[in-house]
Amino acid sequence: MSREQQAVQQARKAFLTGRSKPLDYRIKQLQNLKRFIKEKTTDIASAMRKDLHKTANATHLFEILGLEGEINLAVSKLAEWAAPRPVNKNLVTIADDVYIQPEPLGVVLIIGAWNYPITVTLQPLVGAIAAGNAAVVKPSEVSSHTAKVMELLSLYLDPEMYQVVTGGVAETQVLLKQRFDHIFYTGSSTVGKLVMEAAAHHLTPVTLELGGKSPCYIDKNCDIRIACRRITWGKYMNCGQTCIAPDYILCESSIQDKVINEIQKCIQVCFYVDAIALLTMGPFVFIVLFIFLQEFYTNDPKSFADYGRIINQRHFKRIMALTEGSTVAIGGDSDESECYIAPTVLRDVTPGSKVMQEEIFGPILPIVIVNGLKEAIQFINEREKPLALYIFSSSKKVIKQMISETSSGALVANDCLVHFTISDLPFGGVGNSGTGCYHGKYSFDQLSHLRSCLIKKLNMEGVNQMRYPPHTTEKLRWARVLLLKQVNLARWRQVAQVAMFAALAAFVVQRFLRQ
Ligand code: NAD
Repeated sequence: MSREQQAVQQARKAFLTGRSKPLDYRIKQLQNLKRFIKEKTTDIASAMRKDLHKTANATHLFEILGLEGEINLAVSKLAEWAAPRPVNKNLVTIADDVYIQPEPLGVVLIIGAWNYPITVTLQPLVGAIAAGNAAVVKPSEVSSHTAKVMELLSLYLDPEMYQVVTGGVAETQVLLKQRFDHIFYTGSSTVGKLVMEAAAHHLTPVTLELGGKSPCYIDKNCDIRIACRRITWGKYMNCGQTCIAPDYILCESSIQDKVINEIQKCIQVCFYVDAIALLTMGPFVFIVLFIFLQEFYTNDPKSFADYGRIINQRHFKRIMALTEGSTVAIGGDSDESECYIAPTVLRDVTPGSKVMQEEIFGPILPIVIVNGLKEAIQFINEREKPLALYIFSSSKKVIKQMISETSSGALVANDCLVHFTISDLPFGGVGNSGTGCYHGKYSFDQLSHLRSCLIKKLNMEGVNQMRYPPHTTEKLRWARVLLLKQVNLARWRQVAQVAMFAALAAFVVQRFLRQ
């Protein structure tokens, strides 16, 4: 039996003991996961530096903080999420207990990607643990140093219930042949299709967190300076290797030069203006960071500590090839030996150009010219539904029109990426950008079975009899329709309150008039 088969078998055996069901157990495991992050912070940061040239600061901000937040939320809300959820009843079931009971699915396979290797691998694990499942975790082999650190999870979590399997494509393929109760995959749409195909053999449900091209429309009537600052931050973070990074800009030709100019200024002056730093560390730290980073930063992003690298030479070559045939407006420098590509903007890019045929997933930002909002909407709708759609405009009407006439996993107006930080928003794609969602309670629900429960007593058979006889009179038919009608108890309560209030008012008025 292979290592992968053994891991799945052990996880299933552990799940069948039932010990992952009590909430105390789940909370303990979540706390242990948090302890892992705390105690292994240095190892994680140094692995991340080796894999993606990330600084300890960037790792803390973009990998650790969010994960810790998700764990804290799950621990504090678990009792509420796992509790029975009462539903509206009809008259036939008015005296019964009718509710939804979330229950664990079983063994969940989590396949992670390499760009934010901790976040995209361990955040689904938070949901799996919270929902009471066993899990087999397969970190991406591409971020191999971080994958190695994740092997240490067995020292913190129940090692039978939560298995970490490292390895490459071959190992993932062996895993995909096994029977799971859910597969949670993060990665490209191409491999997403293979995952779904493998899952179909066992009728296993899947969550697919995929990618694609996320458009960014800049309305000519907006503060272009601010828009470009936020786009620069969202695009070039992690060297453009962010699934929700703006992939390309759509704007009118009249503002193209200004957009290029403003992005150029942002790249040179304040590369690392960090909205999340502001949110999480407070304005004082933000100002200090800003002053220091201005000093550190030069016109040469290659020597700037916070500028990342492309994950490997394969991706480096792929990204560089995408720029062929397009006009470079900013950047364009590269160094294959270091997997370095400068923050780059391409101007007057045509829809048929190479760079517009696939997700860029690198620091290349094409500008495609459109003739206003209507054409931008048409451009977006002619392509696959994106994971994120960005719009910069000072007009609420324009933003609303974009929302109502397009579809995407998420829509953010006047900023980039920040929707990822809100646990109450479901994170996921639609169509080609993914299926299913997670974060906060959505992770819990995604990895639970929402079981319908109806508990009836054995009395009141007289009422029940109305349902049974096959021969039906007109009176019985109406009685049945009435009985099966949904009862909105809150509405009835409201009606009763209004009636009581009216009766009280009538009584007071009558007394007053008599006097
Ligand atoms: P990757 O190469 O690390 O692949 C992801 C996983 O798939 C790995 O664990 C790998 O072992 C497995 N895999 C690869 N090829 C396989 C095959 N032929 N058969 C079976 N398993 C295979 O990551 P990637 O695909 O390069 O990731 C980048 C993509 O992920 C981008 O498209 C990006 O947008 C997307 N992404 C999406 C999200 C999201 O939350 N929606 C987050 C991060 C990345």
